[in-house]
Amino acid sequence: MKQTLPNPSVRSRIRETGPRARAGEDGATLHPPAAVGVADAVPADALRALVNDGRATQVAPSPDDHRDPFDGPLVDRFGRVHRDLRISLTDRCSLRCTYCMPAEGVPWLERDSILTTDELERVTRVAARLGITEVRLTGGEPLIRKDAVEVVRRMTAIESLDGRPLEVSMTTNGILLPKLAPALREAGLARVNISLDTLRRDRFIELTRRDKLDEVLDGIRAAKDAGFAPIKINAVAMRGENDDEIVDLVRFAVAEGLQMRFIEQMPLDAGHTWNRVEMVEGQEIVDALSEVYRLTPIGERGASPAEVFRIDDGPSTVGVIASVTAPFCGACDRVRLTADGQIRNCLFAREETDLVPVLRGDGTDADLARIIRFAIAGKRAGHGIDDEGFLQPDRPMSAIGG
Ligand code: SAM
Ligand code: SF4
Repeated sequence: MKQTLPNPSVRSRIRETGPRARAGEDGATLHPPAAVGVADAVPADALRALVNDGRATQVAPSPDDHRDPFDGPLVDRFGRVHRDLRISLTDRCSLRCTYCMPAEGVPWLERDSILTTDELERVTRVAARLGITEVRLTGGEPLIRKDAVEVVRRMTAIESLDGRPLEVSMTTNGILLPKLAPALREAGLARVNISLDTLRRDRFIELTRRDKLDEVLDGIRAAKDAGFAPIKINAVAMRGENDDEIVDLVRFAVAEGLQMRFIEQMPLDAGHTWNRVEMVEGQEIVDALSEVYRLTPIGERGASPAEVFRIDDGPSTVGVIASVTAPFCGACDRVRLTADGQIRNCLFAREETDLVPVLRGDGTDADLARIIRFAIAGKRAGHGIDDEGFLQPDRPMSAIGG
């Protein structure tokens, strides 16, 4: 669903509900509010392009609001300042992980709807002027995109507001790393996270519907050889599928000098088969590991979703990302750009804000900035997975960008 523009009543509702919502709407723990009236900072004139284009049905008020859209942090109505932009480079992938994509019949995005390298660079430059400091490239499989290295090069050449280059990282299934890891490193990629849910070949085939475990393992080696450090390994824990490998995966990671991260499975699968009751909870993962290792929690979570533990006396660590049972929405500083130019203010957003009419029309960077501010302004307090009326987003994870 495309996000429509706020009409006057919505706009005033945003303003009215702000202070109440800050007290903890949707059950999230929230930061103190910033002294910025976000709804007021979203002027309407640039958004008019969307309306004229027939993509939106409502018009925002105050066409005479000409405040500088680059003035002030990218903050939502709960005071959360956004610094982390996740960009999906493509919705295509070389694997078909069961929790992410269907086996067949994937409704691919139209090729000409995918943002070009120039368009990605332009949006990222605007985002950096709005206070974004970190960019994570993801997908689908980001390395499938032919110009992935060039995208990294362009992104790392962009400065954030403090004059430092953007910190650019990537989440990948690792399959193309043997070919691309040195070039990615040379292009300035700071970090890679590689996904690996099992060390058993038969299981890997079942979970990803492809026989490519060795390629992923080669990819991990290539990332190490290219000098990436630390390398994080992401695994989604699934009951009856790989939950008996939690300790084995950590053993593997410790032996290889990698940092293991377990992720609670989220309702983002294409088949909409996710089941809250069957989900392996973060605490179960901690309990299983505690039978073998002495786990010591390290520091505060901050805006990081992972609760990180030192394993025995270190230096290895293991992280648990309990997005469902211990959501980090109150500290969320992330905004997402899909491969087809939609801003999503949450993985679980039901609405998207379309940058394409402005990007491919005659919109200015200030217009883009206004739209991004508008998208952030509409962010909900929490993902609401446990709410009675929760609806899974229409896009599968592969098309959102994890
Ligand atoms: N293809 C790349 C990869 O697999 O690393 C990048 C995209 S993938 C969508 C990014 C991350 O999202 C991966 O670590 C994957 O395991 C995770 N992921 C995908 N679907 C998920 C789900 N339903 N719940 C939790 N994590 C999920
Ligand atoms: Fe592809 Fe990553 Fe989704 Fe697996 S999790 S299907 S590798 S996008």
